[in-house]
Amino acid sequence: MTEISASNRARARDILTLGSPAPLVDAFQRRITYLRLSVTDRCDLRCSYCMPEQMKFLPRREVLTLEELYQLSIGFIERGVTKLRITGGEPLVRRDIIDLFSALGKRIGSGLEELTLTTNATQLARHAEGLAKAGVKRVNVSLDTLDRARFAQLTRRDALPQVLEGIAAAKEAGLKVKLNAVALKGINEGELPDLIAWAHGEGHDVTLIEVMPLGDVEEDRIDHYLPLTDVRAELERRWTLTDNSHSTGGPACYVDIAETGGRLGLITPLTNNFCAGCNRLRVTATGQLYPCLGGGERVDLRAALRSDDPASNLELALSEAMAIKPEKHHFRIDTRGAEPHLARHMSMTGG
Ligand code: SAM
Ligand code: SF4
Repeated sequence: MTEISASNRARARDILTLGSPAPLVDAFQRRITYLRLSVTDRCDLRCSYCMPEQMKFLPRREVLTLEELYQLSIGFIERGVTKLRITGGEPLVRRDIIDLFSALGKRIGSGLEELTLTTNATQLARHAEGLAKAGVKRVNVSLDTLDRARFAQLTRRDALPQVLEGIAAAKEAGLKVKLNAVALKGINEGELPDLIAWAHGEGHDVTLIEVMPLGDVEEDRIDHYLPLTDVRAELERRWTLTDNSHSTGGPACYVDIAETGGRLGLITPLTNNFCAGCNRLRVTATGQLYPCLGGGERVDLRAALRSDDPASNLELALSEAMAIKPEKHHFRIDTRGAEPHLARHMSMTGG
């Protein structure tokens, strides 16, 4: 894949702006301004809560090309999406991914307000400069533990040193880093205060997240489900936590920690309902649009994009997505031994 060419950029504009440039508003009058776009289902780690050791990845032909990903992104920007998060799988294992960032970065200030990514940081050391040059200002790095042996066990790969190098390189390149950690009972629960203190000491925000029932992973997630209400109570025994009204329009609520001087986000998809203000859509690497992370509703954008009349078919597909976006999700994790709530893995839909 060579750099996304000027003619492809022009084509993307032509294909996707022929239709209605009206903003995307769903049946519950929620305006969609945020797209999470998965660029690959592949990953160089195998986090045990995310995928099985022998994960089967998709044949490459099923995955959207970088040009198609670009075209789709432009289509969404034209329809009012102002924030674009590139995710996966691991986005930085996709070959020539920086070309996509560079091409999309040209729309920052012209429809797009923020271009960002979620990464495991194993490849961040070699890409941090390129991302910063493309216009990325912030990255979310997923890191559940600072203990090398625990990291190797949890991700099934001994890659903690690489990840820490990646985080340092991002800081060096001027990128703001936010750490995301999944709180896991019996795995990292005892270490969470140290992880938070370390991150705040390095100047990084941290967000904790509860494990979600997405995709089969060879273990019962309920064994490791740790409600963040418990984590918060534990942190309050040690530190002074004050609610912070900061909002990113997302599902996290925030607290300031007096002793560390940093901010902590708490995402509680299972103990809280945050759907009323949902402004986001997710598109998989195969171009399947999921209007809700916790729902099975789906619209095939790849079929529209590869059809004879992409402009009309994409417009139809997006109207359908607006019509079927559910009012709220129905996650449950309270049934031991039950099938996962949804068969698709988080690495399919993107975090
Ligand atoms: N590979 C990248 C990474 O790990 O940052 C991006 C994709 S990953 C699927 C995005 C986020 O989803 C990560 O922060 C990961 O911890 C989280 N995640 C994966 N499976 C999850 C699950 N079952 N419950 C909660 N979070 C999950
Ligand atoms: Fe890979 Fe991210 Fe899933 Fe871990 S959470 S296996 S890094 S996609």
